[in-house]
Amino acid sequence: MSLPKPKPGDLQALLRAAYPDARCALDHGDPFQLVVATILSAQCTDARVNLTTPALFARFPDAASLAVAPLAELETLIKSTGFYHNKARNLIGLGQALMARHGGRVPSDLATLITLPGVGQKTANVVLSNAFGVAALPVDTHIFRVARRLGLSKATTPEKVEADLCRLFPREDWIELHHQLIFHGRRVCDARRPDCAGCPLLDLCPTGLGKMVDPHSGVKLTSAPEALRPSGEKKKNTGERASPTGPSSSLGGRNRPPSPTLSPGQGTPQRIISLVPSVTELLVQWGLAARLVGRTRYCIEPRWIRNTVPTVGGTKDPDLGRIRDLAPDLVILERDENLQETAEALTALGLPWLALEIRSVQDCVAALRLLGEKLGVAAAAELRASVLEALLKGRRRKGPRALALVWREPWMSAGPDTYLGDLLRQGGFTPIGPDRYPVLAEATLEALGPQVILLPTEPFRFKARHQQELQKRFPEAAVHLVDGQSLTWYLSRTEEGLSLVRALRMG
Ligand code: SF4
Repeated sequence: MSLPKPKPGDLQALLRAAYPDARCALDHGDPFQLVVATILSAQCTDARVNLTTPALFARFPDAASLAVAPLAELETLIKSTGFYHNKARNLIGLGQALMARHGGRVPSDLATLITLPGVGQKTANVVLSNAFGVAALPVDTHIFRVARRLGLSKATTPEKVEADLCRLFPREDWIELHHQLIFHGRRVCDARRPDCAGCPLLDLCPTGLGKMVDPHSGVKLTSAPEALRPSGEKKKNTGERASPTGPSSSLGGRNRPPSPTLSPGQGTPQRIISLVPSVTELLVQWGLAARLVGRTRYCIEPRWIRNTVPTVGGTKDPDLGRIRDLAPDLVILERDENLQETAEALTALGLPWLALEIRSVQDCVAALRLLGEKLGVAAAAELRASVLEALLKGRRRKGPRALALVWREPWMSAGPDTYLGDLLRQGGFTPIGPDRYPVLAEATLEALGPQVILLPTEPFRFKARHQQELQKRFPEAAVHLVDGQSLTWYLSRTEEGLSLVRALRMG
């Protein structure tokens, strides 16, 4: 008996809610950069490619320079992406072919693109859809796995899965769907450990529901039994998935513990432990200090809670025995701030937890509402969320290229896909650098060519001498030493952070 496929419209609605930020993960500024980055991404992570390309494009910014690139130098620049002998030869061949046949420009049709060295059908489709907006749905390893698990295709080759998906979904949605499925594969539907219990697509997924064997692993997956899911979770799960309680990395996609302790019948949490400094401050701002029974040693604001709320270790190394002894009815985490192991240990102890995911100012709006609802202070939360929403209204022009550094020796920055990156964006700057919190080699820092550099006073204690050092290196740039808490404490100080950044933008 064949299983019914999820309805494309239903699936798209869930994917849109879960991944409003889905986009091409390869940093690029034009079609040339994208085709180069895509060639480099073969057998390599996008994050690694994004660390490599700034220096590469600084040295070889166009087809003309790439065509005459010294092989050994090019190999050194791209070595970390793997298979660099082959890739370097292809890149030089690409530059030469673009110069000889296309006036140095990347062609915008499939038939011509696939004649270029290093460009196969998949690379061509990535370039066509992302650089030229041509409808295409290239199937990579994530889409291949997710589509088959969702029962959208039984095909056993990427080409046939692509054909099946293109038949099922409207042409105008292919590009969006391509990014959403990749995000879903990376964040939730992991190859080895899919997070079915917390998956926003679970109710549409025959694999997650155990109705068929996982076509990827060949075994039946088990997800949390329905009886263990809180009443109404299906709806909440969908809305909360992308943010703030998003899945993946640090918290390993386990954004919801298997035991449903927050169901309406069990009341509002009265014994809360916060493992997130800015959330601790937010709870105090909401008048919930009396319900705080534990905090980390970094939860130091407002100052008086240092005398009234006991500590339970650090954000990355909380004392689980102490937490257990305090018998919390809710532990609050955030996926960059805390580790997946902590969430797993809490689950093993049978302690309820809630993980936020804050990667943008908009995530703060959703997180405020979520926390307000869970903690029984919906009105206060709604007021704050509405104010923040109002502050975010209006179109942002692309402003000066701004780099937010968060560490020294080695240099590390907060990338465009972090909360700090988005705060800069919302404040009128263009955040630059690789995504997440990359280490920046001196050459990369140089190549980024920031027009504005922000040095927050935490997590690294940047001081005036660092400001002077960078000002010397980047005489054209405006280098600002800024209050770290205002800039990085999401939720409790987001409005403050926005004002600070906007004031800097106004000069
Ligand atoms: S329910 Fe499980 S198998 Fe299905 S899409 Fe979600 S994570 Fe993947």
